[in-house]
This record gives sequence, C-alpha cells and structure tokens, in this order.
Amino acid sequence: MVLTSNLGYPQIGLKRELKFALEAYWNHKSDLESLLKTSQEIQISNWQLQQNLGIDLIPSNDFSLYDHVLDTAIMVNAIPSRVFHDQITDEYTRYFAMARGFQNAGVSIPAMEMTKWFNTNYHYIVPEISRDTRFNLNSQKPLDAFNLAKTVGIITRPVIIGPVTFLLLSKTNDTGFSPFEKISELLPIYKQLFSELYLAGVQWIQLDEPFLVSDLNQGIKKAYQEMFIEFSKSENRPKLLLTTYFDDISINKELISASPFEGLHIDRLNTSDPIELISYLPKLETLSLGIIDGRNIWKTDLIHQAELIHEIQDSLNPQELLIAPSCSMLHIPQDLELETEIVTEIKSWMSFAKQKLQELVLLQRFVNDPKKYKNLLINNEAALISRKNTMEKSKSRAMRSLQSVPPVQLERQSPFIERKKKQQLSLPKFPATTIGSFPQTIEIRSIRAKLNRGEINQTEYDAFIRSEIEKVIRLQEEIGLDVLVHGEFERNDMVQYFAEKMQGFTFTSHGWVQSYGSRYVRPPIIYGLVSRPETMTVDWAKYTQSLTDKPVKGMLTGPVTILQWSFVHDDQPRADTCREIALAIREEVLDLESVGIQIIQIDEPALREGLPIQKSKWQQYLSWAVECFKITSSGVKDETQIHTHMCYAEFNDIVNAIGEMDADVISIEASRSNMQLLKAFGDYHYPNDIGPGVYDIHSPNIPKVEEIVGLLEKALEVIPGDQLWVNPDCGLKTRTWEEVIPSLKAMVNAARSLRKKAL
Ligand code: GLN
Ligand code: ZN
Repeated sequence: MVLTSNLGYPQIGLKRELKFALEAYWNHKSDLESLLKTSQEIQISNWQLQQNLGIDLIPSNDFSLYDHVLDTAIMVNAIPSRVFHDQITDEYTRYFAMARGFQNAGVSIPAMEMTKWFNTNYHYIVPEISRDTRFNLNSQKPLDAFNLAKTVGIITRPVIIGPVTFLLLSKTNDTGFSPFEKISELLPIYKQLFSELYLAGVQWIQLDEPFLVSDLNQGIKKAYQEMFIEFSKSENRPKLLLTTYFDDISINKELISASPFEGLHIDRLNTSDPIELISYLPKLETLSLGIIDGRNIWKTDLIHQAELIHEIQDSLNPQELLIAPSCSMLHIPQDLELETEIVTEIKSWMSFAKQKLQELVLLQRFVNDPKKYKNLLINNEAALISRKNTMEKSKSRAMRSLQSVPPVQLERQSPFIERKKKQQLSLPKFPATTIGSFPQTIEIRSIRAKLNRGEINQTEYDAFIRSEIEKVIRLQEEIGLDVLVHGEFERNDMVQYFAEKMQGFTFTSHGWVQSYGSRYVRPPIIYGLVSRPETMTVDWAKYTQSLTDKPVKGMLTGPVTILQWSFVHDDQPRADTCREIALAIREEVLDLESVGIQIIQIDEPALREGLPIQKSKWQQYLSWAVECFKITSSGVKDETQIHTHMCYAEFNDIVNAIGEMDADVISIEASRSNMQLLKAFGDYHYPNDIGPGVYDIHSPNIPKVEEIVGLLEKALEVIPGDQLWVNPDCGLKTRTWEEVIPSLKAMVNAARSLRKKAL
C-alpha cells in the first residue's frame, strides 16, 4: 500500500488573510484575538482541504504567525535578553519585537537578523545562541496545533525543525564557540516535547533536518550521531520521520544509515540514485518519497514517477511507502483555479499546491491499482505532451535563430587596465553614485495603479514618470553626485518589469508566495523560449541623459537574478534558460550603448543565492552564472563602463567568480558589517573598481559625514584609492525623501573631504 503525505501547506491563506490580519494588528486596527482567530481559520481550512483531497498524512505546526525558525527559538527558550523590557508586556509583543524590532517612546530594540532559508527566497529569523543560553521547553505550539486539528477530527503529523538544523541555522556573537556545540543541552528539551506530544496522541512527528543534505564536518556529524542515540533511547515518543530536502542526501548515507528513526523522507527529485541509497538503509520501516516538486509549478510526469515507485516496491519493499511533495509547499502558490489570465494551454501545464496534492492522490490510486485507474492519468499525459510539443517547436525556432547569430565573444576587447584608460568620463577621484532606485512613493504607486485600472492612459503615465525623472536629475546635480541615475520610477519590481517586456514569461494574478513575514511576492513564470522583441529601457535612459551633462547609468537586471526570482520551466537545464535571458539583456546593453549611454549597470543581487547547497556543485553553477553575466556585458566597446551590483550575501565564497565577471565597477553592500565584507576583496587583490556601500539603506538613520569618512578610510586599508567608489548599500526605493536627501548629501561631503585629504 502506498499512502499520500504532505510536508507543509502554504500558510498565508488563500486570499492572503494572514497578511491583512497581521498588518491590521500591527497598525492597531484590530486586536490580538482577531489575529489569532484568522490564524486558526487558515489552519483549519488547510487541514480540511487536504483531508477532502484525500491526503493520508496531513501536517500540523506548518503554520506560523511570522516564521517557523523564530517559533522554534521561542519554543526552546532561545530568546535574546534585549526583548525582556518593561515596555514589552505580553508574549506576542515580544514575538513581533524579535521579528521586526520594537520602537516606542524613545525605546528602540533592534529586530533579529533575517536570512534566506537554504537556496530558496524564503527568509527566516536567525536565532541568537550564546554560550550561556539556557534552553527549556517554553511553548506548546506543536501540541496546540495538533489539538486544534483534533477538534475538527483530523489527526495530524506535527512538523518540528530538528535540533541540529536549528542550531546550525543560528548565529552567535561568542568567539571560539559554535551553537551546535550545545546539542547535548538541547536534546533533552526535544525529548520532553516528544513525550508530551506522545501523551496527547501524536503518532508521527516530521522532524525536519535539511542540513543532512549538505557537506558536514566531523563535529556536526557527531552532533547528529548524538541525536540518533538520545532519541532512540526515549520510550514515550511518537515515531519520527527524519525529513530531508533540497538536495541529494546520498553524500551523508553512512551517517543516515545509523538513524534509529522509523521513517525517512528523501527529496527524490534531487536524489541521483534512490535505489542505491535505499539499499543502504535496510532497517527503514517507512520511506517517504518526495516525488512532486514542492518548489516549482509544473505538472508532474505521473507515469514516470509511478514506474519508479514500482521499482522501489519490487526491489526493496519497505514496509510502508509514502509519496509526498519534495519539500514543504511554502514555496509555491496555492490554487491554479484562481488564475483566469493565463493562456489556457500554458495553464494546462501547471500545478499549484492544491493541484499537486491532487496529483499525489491520482498517483496513489494508480500505483495501488494500475488497471482500474489508468484512465485517470489521461489528462496528465495530454498536458505533458502539449507542453513537450510546444517546447520542441520553440527549441527548433531557437536553434535556427541561434545559428544566424555569430557565437558570442565572452571577453571584453581589452583587459581592465586598458579599458580604464579609455573610459574618459571625467570623473573625480572617489566618484559618488547611487545603486539605481529612488523612493517609490505612494504617489508613484497610486499613479501606476491608475494606469493598470485604465483611469489614465499610457501617455499620461509616461509624462508623469518623465517629470519625476527630471526632478531626480536636478536633485542629483544639486547634491553633487558624479554618476546619475533615472530613479527606476517606472518599475514595479526589478525582475517583473523586464519579464513583462520579454517573451517566454507569463504572470499570475493570485500566485503569492511568502518572502518573509507579511511580505509576499508573485514570481513571474518562464514557460518557454525567452527573447526580447523590443527595447526595454532605452527610451527612459536616452531621455534622462538628454537632461544632463553628467554621465547617466543605464540600469538593467542581470540574467541570473531574473532566473532566480522566477519559476523556471524544468524541461531544459536552468543554465540554458539563463543563457536565453542573457542574450536578451545583451541586446539591451548594446542598444543602450548605441544611443550614447556610457555607463551600464547590470544588477546581480541574486547571484550568490543561486549557489547549490553542496559544494561539489558550486563550480558548475558559478561557471554558467559568470558566463551569462559575460554574455550580457562583453559586447560593448572598451569605452563603455560596465557596472554590477550585489548585496546582502556572503561574498567570501564567490569572490573569485566576481573577479571573473570582469565588471569595470562593482558596488556591494558593506556598511552593516563595518567594511569587513571587503576583506575578501582585499585578500583576493580584486583588480577592478569597487564601491562598498557606505550607508545602510535598511535603516531610517541618516548617516553622519564623519561616519562615512570613517568607513571609507577603513575601505582604503584594503582597496587602493584609485579603485574606490562611494555609494549606498543598495537601491533607495524603500526609503523616504526625507531620509534620502540628507543621507546622500552626507555621502557626497564625505567623498569630497576624502578627495581633499588625498591631494
Ligand atoms: N538597481 C536596483 C535598485 O536600486 C538594485 C536593487 C537590488 O540590489 N536588489 O533598486
Ligand atoms: Zn542591492
């Protein structure tokens, strides 16, 4: 018998109820009671939906008001001392203070840090652990969720982030200490939790340990072994489904083979040889196979997956086989039926969370009784064939057009030193610039909304944008910036703007996925061959340059970032799709150059986050990512200056690759780390120009001239003066004008005072 199982359902509510409830609560427009009521309603409706669809094993505790990792930190009492303050009088205020910071009557408590959940676009709250953190079981959230589901007659499987993964996700400020060293202190808390859940009638727990698919050092492996030994000893505990995803667990198969747990979930889609892997695990009672892609939105090839299931049943026959999505479906939209704008044929290739669960049930029926249920798969097969045919047609079209293009030369005409001499932009030493966007005010967004509703026409909208550009050019001249930008007022989003102008993309109207907290995004969908039928930014750039004698930067989003922040069709390697986008952006770069734009910035903020989890796969990724950047940038003359921008990432691992990209200038975020990030560039002797961010655009604070001078002097310890640019950490679109104007003035003054000193 094969059973269906789910690892996690989107928690935001079908109509984004959670967002609206949270924001109303934060803005004091509603009370805690109604927030909690909404959260219970979302959970109950998710459970009932899954039950009605026929899912056998339904998760609970996959819901969080803000973030699961934060919930886990609170559960084990890893709460930073700064949120214990007289003004914080209840646990929910404390919870949101941890998530978002707390400001009231002169008290300002900073939020905890946030970072990306493995290689996804979901951000989690980073727990803070110190040597003297004292763990104890501080909340009953998993139990409460289980009991809530029981009130509607559904026995669920609570999802709990495992202790080793929890500690590895954490950070510490204590030197010479790693949080995972505290594993022996954390395990008893989990054991206590398990026994309480057991007494409440929990039969299975889903213990998420995604770090098991990554490269582990001896210390971490020992922490896992200790977990196995401790948990095998506990008597009063539910069965444990050790749950892994996002990559191939085979690299740690020796370690896994020592697991005493009753079940294991593997991400089949990322496992190169599941049969071989399973042969390593002879004692396993329950195998959960993640065979439906929990991170993408395409229909599953059900017949193909059924064959694999039969193969596993024949050769190994674990006592119990579960079929499941590869990972939690947190990362995909909920219901395709809500989409009315997507072309019917393309829509027939897709499957969102609800449809994926339907696929699982179909697959279950089919593998349990192939003869009876063969006809159930007819629609699935037809959709796959339609998609394949369309793709093949567009591929042959692509081949033909590629043959007509001469192969792209990946290197610039001359090395950087020579290009630098030719780039006569009459810039001073320490040139000052910005990253591209200026405040996207409510006014701008409301004018765009009017355009979308048809209340104003395109001509009126364009005139409005032009006047905004003119204002921002005058402002930048007045402030004294050296390289100007047009402000990106016409862009709703740095990826969506370009996606809407290219072919091969489609868009959802309700396909929200959580980015963090109450922030959700609707990623574009790349369904076919990408191309650029017409210019995308050239008119704006040309207009902007006509307003000023100072150089204006053309602003583009890079191919890796466009790929990374979209759902990408899975019938060819991601690298190939990225090359298609790169060729389109290259055309735009050349068109910008041909209208007289002398500086072009190609942003790649998502380059680092595309890095695979396993180190052995890094090189391959970096080599195509760098190649794609070079496809976009290599066609220009030596005289044209190429910039790139990256932010909010760990650059140490990839500084080599950044060097190979060979942009004339790179701007990076560096102020929060007090220029420490630059060390990697210094050690590497990064040869091209570099602009380390000198003020944190995520904070409303206005930097002082001396602070910026201090940061720049720090930067000069590792970067030679004639390579140094002056700029903020990132784009300014989320800030107000009141913050931006004085901050940029301070920045320009800092650059000027440095120039004086250098004389
Ligand atoms: N050019 C973009 C901006 O200024 C870059 C944004 C980013 O790095 N995410 O908004
Ligand atoms: Zn940025």
